[in-house]
Amino acid sequence: MNILLSNDDGYHAEGIQILARELRKFADVTIVAPDRNRSAASGSLTLVEPLRPRHLDDGDYCVNGTPADCVHLALNGFLSGRMDLVISGINAGVNLGDDVIYSGTVAAALEGRHLGLPSIAVSLDGRRYYETAARVVCDLIPKLHTRLLNPREIININVPDIPYDQIKGIKVCRLGHRAASAEVIKQQDPRGESIYWIGPAALPEDDEEGTDFHAVNNGYVAITPIQVDMTSYNSMSALQDWLESE
Ligand code: MN
Repeated sequence: MNILLSNDDGYHAEGIQILARELRKFADVTIVAPDRNRSAASGSLTLVEPLRPRHLDDGDYCVNGTPADCVHLALNGFLSGRMDLVISGINAGVNLGDDVIYSGTVAAALEGRHLGLPSIAVSLDGRRYYETAARVVCDLIPKLHTRLLNPREIININVPDIPYDQIKGIKVCRLGHRAASAEVIKQQDPRGESIYWIGPAALPEDDEEGTDFHAVNNGYVAITPIQVDMTSYNSMSALQDWLESE
């Protein structure tokens, strides 16, 4: 099995290195990942400057681009071998609910799916037990049928940051929902100019049973199928009625 591995925390991040080490026990893994932390890059592609992949040890590459750039490049002419699966992660921090809109981790998987391969995003609710998340992924891969993944869908996996033997199980979940973000954080630079930081993600507003938030917060691995089609089908007829009434 040939696996393309990417992430948004950058090639040197602990999460991707631990996952690569574990996957290489049974699969051929090629890392193509950003050369620095590109978290929250979403699905952005670099169009105004060239991408320069840099060859690293073990046939891996880091790229001066976004997570989506890396997967796009790897699958669209840069790598010669055929890939069977795209995995993105292990991200340092969860990608639950609204996070999937901003996440570069999820976007790398979506780019893989867009280019025709089954794709998985995996994130850890912290920075300690990457081995737990790696083991969860390695458990799931042999059971993964490509039939399980419809075209234009990926699976998003979030793992509690606890030892593997404390994981209570795996739950298929819907996305929860976060409250609106807090205000930006205003500071002054050394020259007296105002600068602003985007603050941390807000607390969940919908984390009831059945959501990804609820599963992870209660010691379960959360698996959520994510689709690209964001059309709100329920609103289409109301919008049509409004247009016709004008
Ligand atoms: Mn990240």
